[in-house]
Amino acid sequence: MTTPVLQTTIAGSLPKPAWLATPQKLWAPWLLEGEVLAEGKRDAVRLVLRDQETAGIDIVSDGEQTRRHFVTGYLEHLAGVDFKNTKKVRIRNRYDADVPQVVAAVTRPQPVHSDDVRFLRAETDRPIKFTLPGPMTMVDTLFDAHYRSREKLAMAFAEILNREARELEALGANVIQFDEPAFNVYFDEVRDWGVAALEKAAEGLSCKSAVHICYGYGIKANIDWKHTLGAEWRQYEQTFPLLAASRIDQVSLECANSHVPLELIALLKGKDVLVGAIDVATDRIESPEDVAGVIRAALKYVAPDHLYPCTNCGMVPLAREVSSGKLRALAAGATIVRGELGG
Ligand SMILES: [Zn+2]
Repeated sequence: MTTPVLQTTIAGSLPKPAWLATPQKLWAPWLLEGEVLAEGKRDAVRLVLRDQETAGIDIVSDGEQTRRHFVTGYLEHLAGVDFKNTKKVRIRNRYDADVPQVVAAVTRPQPVHSDDVRFLRAETDRPIKFTLPGPMTMVDTLFDAHYRSREKLAMAFAEILNREARELEALGANVIQFDEPAFNVYFDEVRDWGVAALEKAAEGLSCKSAVHICYGYGIKANIDWKHTLGAEWRQYEQTFPLLAASRIDQVSLECANSHVPLELIALLKGKDVLVGAIDVATDRIESPEDVAGVIRAALKYVAPDHLYPCTNCGMVPLAREVSSGKLRALAAGATIVRGELGG
């Protein structure tokens, strides 16, 4: 049996249950601790899996239920990073945040997400995707007091991520995605070393490798930034040709309600394209027909077997019922278009 076209998937995070972390809040602190927290995380993964499966999502994930933040949730497991003495820095040229400092060579004392993927693999029969932060975005989320070179630090992270990714693949991950929102900001660095660092992180993988590049969660700093970008968002125009020439298999991008000209997708020739057909910056739940409309528009630039309907970004800041509704709309919209394609 061949896999149907338009396989649906999500960009990354999903809301956490209210008993695990404060809802509708980024970086929400855990409400449990110790072994109870570990069990709570596993139960939350079971819930988001069920939510995705009943909605009809084809390639499922753990919704990042085991992490508070998509970058620091990984960083906090590494040595060489000081989380006690934070520094205020400007993130993605957009907002100030207190971030950890790199104070020595970064190393990974032990595997970070092996248990998570082992558990996820055991809990579902569907293909699974696991997300990791990309090297450039990691560099951009801390203060570097040791390497004094964004490129050198990115390459050190890439080596660590590559070991992690190979282990996760061996444990059954079908897709490993690196989140690189920083690719939408630092175009010269993307060209000079960003794509090289990303390729190093994905080196030797035989499962699918993906990169997610977005305009961020629907938080105020991001919404204000988007207002400065003009009527057409052409940031992807600089990055996509570099990614098309790279060894990365899949590119996840934002399309729903965004000002991204869809013809830019044509620059990704030969790649799988994860088309964001769900807006994560609004509580309005898309209709299946809204989703179908985005998929149809994207099909002008990418073949059906390379198009994966997806969310624009993570949904962790949304209410659970909103997120569930959006998952159902995503799957239903893909089903409509699949029918139109005759299979
Ligand atoms: Zn995103």
